[in-house]
Parts: sequence; C-alpha cells; structure tokens
Amino acid sequence: MRKKAFKAESKRLLELMINSIYTHKEIFLRELISNASDAIDKLYYRTLKDGISGLSRDSFCITISFDKDARTLTIADNGIGMTDEELEHNLGVIAQSGSLKFKRDTADEETGDDIDVIGQFGVGFYSAFMVADEITVETLAYGTEQAFRWKSSGVDGYTIEPCEKDGHGTVITLHVKPSTEEADYDAYLEQYELMQLVRKYSDYIRYPIRMDVQKNRPIEGSDGEYENYVETETLNSMVPIWKRSKSEVTEEQLFSFYKEKFLDFKDPAHVIHVSTEGSATFNALLFIPSEAPYNYYTRDYEKGLKLYASGVLITECCGDLLPDCFSFVKGLVDSQDLSLNISREMLQHDRQLKLISSRIEKKIKSELKSLLENNREKYETIFKNFGLQMKYGIYSSYGMQKELLSDLLLYHSSNGDSMTTLTEYCERMRESQKYIYYASGASIERISRLPQTERLLDLGYEILYMTDDIDEFVLRVMREWEGKEFRSVSGDDLGLEDELTAEETKQQEEHQEMLDFMAQQLKGKVKRVAASQRLKTYPVCLTTEGMLSLEMERVLNAAPGENGVRAERVLELNANHPLFAKLVRLYESNRDRLSEYAMLLYNQSLLIEGLPLDDPIAFSAAMSSIMAEDD
Ligand code: ADP
Repeated sequence: MRKKAFKAESKRLLELMINSIYTHKEIFLRELISNASDAIDKLYYRTLKDGISGLSRDSFCITISFDKDARTLTIADNGIGMTDEELEHNLGVIAQSGSLKFKRDTADEETGDDIDVIGQFGVGFYSAFMVADEITVETLAYGTEQAFRWKSSGVDGYTIEPCEKDGHGTVITLHVKPSTEEADYDAYLEQYELMQLVRKYSDYIRYPIRMDVQKNRPIEGSDGEYENYVETETLNSMVPIWKRSKSEVTEEQLFSFYKEKFLDFKDPAHVIHVSTEGSATFNALLFIPSEAPYNYYTRDYEKGLKLYASGVLITECCGDLLPDCFSFVKGLVDSQDLSLNISREMLQHDRQLKLISSRIEKKIKSELKSLLENNREKYETIFKNFGLQMKYGIYSSYGMQKELLSDLLLYHSSNGDSMTTLTEYCERMRESQKYIYYASGASIERISRLPQTERLLDLGYEILYMTDDIDEFVLRVMREWEGKEFRSVSGDDLGLEDELTAEETKQQEEHQEMLDFMAQQLKGKVKRVAASQRLKTYPVCLTTEGMLSLEMERVLNAAPGENGVRAERVLELNANHPLFAKLVRLYESNRDRLSEYAMLLYNQSLLIEGLPLDDPIAFSAAMSSIMAEDD
C-alpha cells in the first residue's frame, strides 16, 4: 500500500470542502454523476474510434446504492476506469486548479467565502468531502487486469492499493458524515431524497442512472396487507426536451415542462427555441410567461436562465445570460462549450457566457419583433405585462439600448383604441407635421381630455398618450424617432407655423403688459403668463418650459429623499376666449379684480392637471364671492 500526502493546492481545496458552509452541499452528487458520465463517454468514444465490439451503448449505466446502517452511498459506473497512475494523478492532485486560483483572487480568506466557486462551477470529485468523512474509490481501467483502491479521509492524505474488482469502471463509496444541527447529512441516505437530487441536477445525463428502489404493493387476496419488493428504476429521463427536434415535441409537452421547471400555474404566452453553432454552440429553450410574476417589478425578482453544460445543470438561475430589459424571460441554456471541469479558466467561462447571452438577446428581440408584426394580439398581451421593463431598459442604459428596444414599444394614442408603434405613428403623420406629439397623465381618459391637445387634434395631428411614470424619461433619452423629435403638448413650443399661431403671437405682443402684470401677481407660482398657441375652446391651461414637465416633477418628487424639484410653469390663456377680453378690460379698470382672476385661473389650471391647489380655501372663497355677485 502506498501512503501519500495531497499536493499543497489540492489540500487547500480539500480543506475548503471539508469545512464548507455552502448551503447546497447536495451538488456533490451531480459532480460524481457527471464524472461517471464522462468516464462512460470516454470509453464509448473509444469503442467507436477503435471499432471495439462487444460494448454497445445500451450496456452503459450509472448505479446508485446506499446502506443506511453502514452510512454509505455508492456511485458506480462501467466507464473507462483509471489505472494506478491515473488514480494518483487525477485524485491526488488537481491538474490545473483554475477555480482555486479564481477563489484565491476573489474570495475573502477570513470568511472562507467559497460559495460561488462551488455553486457555479462545481469543484468535481473533491466536493464529496462536503458530505463524506471517508471516500473509497475502486477502479479498473478498461483493457487492464489489476484494479486499484484509493482511499482518503481528508487532508491527511490518501492510500492506493491493489484490489479485486469485476469489470471495468469505477465505484465510489462515500461514508456519509453524521448529521449535525446545521446540516442534515442523513438525507443523502434517503431513497426519496436521492431520487429527487438526480432528477433535479442530472435528469439529462445521457446514460441511465439506476437505483434499486424499495416499493410496496397490496398482497393479492389479502385484506389490505402490503408487501415490500425491490425494483430497479431508471431515475433520469436522459433526453432533454430542448435537444429533441421541434417536430418531435408537442406544445403540451413544452408547456408542462415549463410549468414544472419554472413553477408557473399558467401556460407560457410564447416559446422560443434557439439552436446555434459556430462561435457559441448551444441550445436554448425560452419561455415568455403569460403573466408577470407577482414580484416581477420588485427587488425580490431574480432574473436568469438555467445553465446546463452538456445536459448537466450548473446554475439554477444564471443572471448574466439575460439582459435586464428581457428579465421576464424564463428558460434554459445548454452548451457543450461549457464544462463542469474545474481546470477551465473562469475568464473563458465569462467570454463564452457573454457570447451566448448576446445571441440570446438578439433572438428574443427578433422573436418579439416577429410577434409584433405577425401576431399583434399576442404581442400586445406580452407588452402589457412586460413593456414597462423594456422602457426601463432604454432609460437605464441612457438610450444605449434604444436600437434594441424602441421598435418594440407600443403606445396608446389619440388615433383610437388600438396601440401604435412609433413607426406606425410616423406613417400616419400629416404632411405639415414636423414633430411627434405626446401628452402625459394619470390615465388615457384624462389625457384625452386635456385642453393642451385641442389645437393639435384640430389640425389632425395624432398625440401619443404617456401613462407610465417612466414614459417621459424614456422619450427624453430617445430624443427622436426616424428623425422626428418628440414634443410634449404641454412643452415650450409646439412648433406650429399656421395663421392662428401668428395671430396669437400678435396678441401676446399687444397685451404683454397685462400678461406681465398677471405673472407678477402669481410670483413664485408661474414663470410667465402667455397667450396660448394650443387652446381652442378652453380659456386656460398650464404648461412648462425647459427640461422638466409636470409629470416628471411629480415622479421625481415621489422618489424617496427627493422633493422640491419644480418644473417651470407657464399659465397659458386662450386669447380667442371671451374671458380674455374681460381680462384686458379689467387691466384698464380694476387691477385688484384682475389679480383675483389671475389666482382663480391659475388654480383652475392646476385642477385640470390633477394637481393639488396651494390654498383650496382661498380658491373656494373667491369663487363663492364671484358667484354671489349681482346677476
Ligand atoms: P474534473 O472537473 O476534471 O472532472 P474531478 O476532480 O471531478 O475533476 O476529477 C478529476 C479526474 O478524475 C477527472 O478528470 C477524471 O479523469 C478522473 N475521474 C473522476 N471520476 C472518475 C470516474 N468515475 N471514472 C473515471 N475517471 C474519473
């Protein structure tokens, strides 16, 4: 028997495993099963390459067994096995400890923050030391005579000695640690638990994973008595649904797969298949839920896709695979370019993941675009659920994702009940119309009745309705669409160049003094009082100058820690309304009354916008006294 110490690096990793505080220790089983599957792969390919007969694909399998009393769990394969030297080389040292280096560079030595390395990339064979206090490996390399036994109970080292073993392959026996208050190791000696773990992590391993399962059945002819019996079961389904060709899988199968794996009660709204080759070879199966999860627009929601390497689950929810704007997409990615192998440099993983995620982003985009064009109803439902997230995408990327997202946006508009894209809006624009007009407010109902929209609608110009808090911010970031600037119906300048506008400019000049007087009376409330270019029948409305609109002011002030942001208000008067003539008269005859009217008009404009009045009591008193005047 040879007794050996572990190489320094391996010892470190081992210590990490033995003392692991990692909560998902269960992944050790996935690691051992993956190793077994790799070992079978190696032998299977060799049989194909060397034309070895007598070994058919069907004869390969992985077997799991356990003994509660002896506290042992065994994973056996009939793969390629290991020679004496291979045992020493493979299990005595970690060839290129990529993940260990990664850990050393990034983790906190003090706290032993090993969580990510283990969870995301696996650390192979050694992870078994998270749950076992002794491990025995008996192995016979294919085509050799002598089997060997490797044994270790941790950092002290390992022994290797010859042993007896029938048939090629490897048998790994773990002596499971006693349970503690913190960790329930007994679970790894429970039939049900083991079956669940195999299904969770290793369902798509290509070879059958078998276990002798204890069952019971009613004894025939007896009165409700049962007998126990044992049946060998294959625990994994082997062929991943995403690897089957589209025509082979029914919609029902896809839907039930989605509901089971992604814990949704409802069928998905849409399924996307991705299969690529080239710089990033992977399959992906993506789902758009039919409803936003209850926590979707909260911090609790975790975006991501399940990540598989050749059918083996690496990460339950890999956030890096999805851009934020499409965080509502569920699904999985399976790539053969990724490996559980610890020797892979982490950077390489990163690059590969980036490639995959950019492909996925493009695919989701093109799929949504095609729904928008070909199945509008379905797209509108999706947009109603998740459109807000796409808008956030544009805003939070400072418009960098404008290209990706802006042609996916839909808005309500003055054109009717159906929603419109920006492109469709532009197609309907009048010849004289230079800008894309929009109005903001709490609801479509309210916006559609805003006085500010009167003149534009009269000209036959369509107005987009903005009802989400983020809407105006998004338009600010986008600035224009197809060369046409966005303009608010309540903003500085509507850019109209018609006769009425010229007339109003004239009125403005003519009555500048009176308007200035009124502004003076409303000091601190409005910046200017002006003759309006946008009103037709209404006497008054409130607009703003500069970057901030009233809606933006409201949204910003609602944010915690923010208040006192104020938009520059302009009180606009309709010079064609009889009231205007009255104001002109009052300017000559009764300025106190004009001052009172200025206050009343300002308050009316606030009411129209749904804004609170500064002094509702004064407003009511003034109104009442006017109403009480002689008729
Ligand atoms: P890896 O990430 O390379 O799988 P492991 O520590 O899990 O790292 O295993 C180290 C090496 O030991 C493997 O690369 C493989 O060569 C060998 N090995 C592990 N398990 C088996 C097995 N069941 N059969 C044959 N070889 C194995």
